[in-house]
Amino acid sequence: MTTCIFCNILSGLSPANFVYRDDLCSAFMDIHPVNPGHMLVIPHSHSTLLSELDDMSVGHMFQVAQKVDVALRSSGIKCEGVNLFMADGRSAGQEVMHVHLHVIPRFHGDGHHLRFSPSYFKLPSPTELEKNAKMIRNQMGGIP
Ligand code: AMP
Ligand code: ZN
Repeated sequence: MTTCIFCNILSGLSPANFVYRDDLCSAFMDIHPVNPGHMLVIPHSHSTLLSELDDMSVGHMFQVAQKVDVALRSSGIKCEGVNLFMADGRSAGQEVMHVHLHVIPRFHGDGHHLRFSPSYFKLPSPTELEKNAKMIRNQMGGIP
């Protein structure tokens, strides 16, 4: 038993309803779904943040999300669209500190909404947008 619930699920020590498993990633049902059919895709290697995860697992997690997204849409579960969501860090709402990608079925009138902060309604100036782009670009080594 570890302190990580998702590692415990992967090792079989805690129960889960699996829908997919391969060498790098697994997908299982979220126990507290936003809508029926809500799944989590997780890498087998334990990392807290996306930035700590190896490149192979990052890419593969999205490939598995695509597979379960396709299956979900044709499963008979009500699903008119899908939200892919990741909380990367506590301040972003991460509660389970093992990287995971939410795959959430959505349909018109399901009552689920993203809430925007007051600052969202004040558009940034072109100067501010470019200032922020430059700060991030500098960390990426520029654009070839
Ligand atoms: P997050 O806020 O992005 O860290 O979301 C964590 C998600 O994990 C929540 O949607 C929980 O309902 C889900 N969760 C927590 N424990 C379990 C568990 N034992 N089995 C399945 N899902 C879980
Ligand atoms: Zn873990």
